Amino acid sequence: MKVELLSPAGNMEKLKAAINFGADAVYLSGKDFGLRASADNFTIEEMYEAFSLLHSKGKKGYVTVNIYARNYDFNELGFYLDQLKEVSPDALIVSDPGVFKFIRDRKIEIPIHISTQANITNYMAVKFWQQLGAERIVLARELTREEIRFIAENVKCELEVFVHGAMCISHSGRCVLSNYFNKKDSNRGECTHPCRWKYHLVEETRPGEYLPVFEDERGTYIYNSKDLCLIEHVGELIDMGIKSLKIEGRMKSSMYTAVVTGVYRQVIDAALKGEFKVDEKWIRLLNTVSNRTYTKGFYADEADESSINYKTSSYVRGSDFLGVVTAYKDGRLNFHCKGKINMGDKLQILTPDMDEFILKVDEIYDLNGEKVEFTKPNYDYFFKYDIDIPENSIIRRIL
Ligand code: SF4
Repeated sequence: MKVELLSPAGNMEKLKAAINFGADAVYLSGKDFGLRASADNFTIEEMYEAFSLLHSKGKKGYVTVNIYARNYDFNELGFYLDQLKEVSPDALIVSDPGVFKFIRDRKIEIPIHISTQANITNYMAVKFWQQLGAERIVLARELTREEIRFIAENVKCELEVFVHGAMCISHSGRCVLSNYFNKKDSNRGECTHPCRWKYHLVEETRPGEYLPVFEDERGTYIYNSKDLCLIEHVGELIDMGIKSLKIEGRMKSSMYTAVVTGVYRQVIDAALKGEFKVDEKWIRLLNTVSNRTYTKGFYADEADESSINYKTSSYVRGSDFLGVVTAYKDGRLNFHCKGKINMGDKLQILTPDMDEFILKVDEIYDLNGEKVEFTKPNYDYFFKYDIDIPENSIIRRIL
């Protein structure tokens, strides 16, 4: 069975980055009813463009409709689903049994995947959804390796497992921190991430006295989970028969999507060839994109204090995203600028095959051939460069 690399697509630029760097499929959302309300997401017109591009390249796309709905949602949801039926995605990702029934009652025959938000933690729950007609189950991120293995051995349904990205400290689909603090419902895509905040303790008869909770002089972030990274375990997940390996991060940059997708493409290809050994380069590259330092989460064992980053909830970021290569011809490396580049900068170029090149900036030209001293985001420029660099390679500054 071919295993699928499934990447996040928060907008069209990220979708292109995912497919250029080796994703087999992407997941994306419309403007409503998905769980990342603050990502750019896709209009219906953009979805037509996205699916035409995906299918022309033999890739798949799944649309998230994974809110927990309220009664008042169904009118608008019906209208939206009728539009999606015309777009014809390869699957809908759903959490709510009511939404599941509504889709089937409406005779929308698009396959349904059950979202991790439905918090499926056992093989009987998988069978339950399969009996109702779900084609794939995205397992809860709170499962250990042995639990995943047991489920895989005891069901016939397609299974999808998260291998990389941010983790919730609470069980997926059961967290109400954001609802409680901000009246923003995480099960409707509005999470304000209070698990990343810094907390103090207040004794009830001493209002206003904030007692520190700290590990060291920087304080602590007691709910702040590190990010999941399971590259070491990709081979065994494939051996278990997991159909799809998923990367989290629709709100991350297109550089993040490109680098993480490119690394996992190499990991999966190596595992499929039976040559699996963790390459130090993969770890180094994963450390160049934003992360909260890495953990295996619940996979290797129950998560414990080593899964939490107590020191800071800020991202560690190892690079600045500066541009995307648009063409190479006759010694001219054309690129679309994403961040300011100055004379004298030392840049890295990373190709979709994950080859790395260094470029020292001695001259920058605008498209009229005029020399400029620095670049401005969203304009196009070129460098003179003697290596033929493939289109869609990314240009960045390693920090
Ligand atoms: S507050 Fe944190 S744990 Fe809760 S849903 Fe939001 S991101 Fe997840």
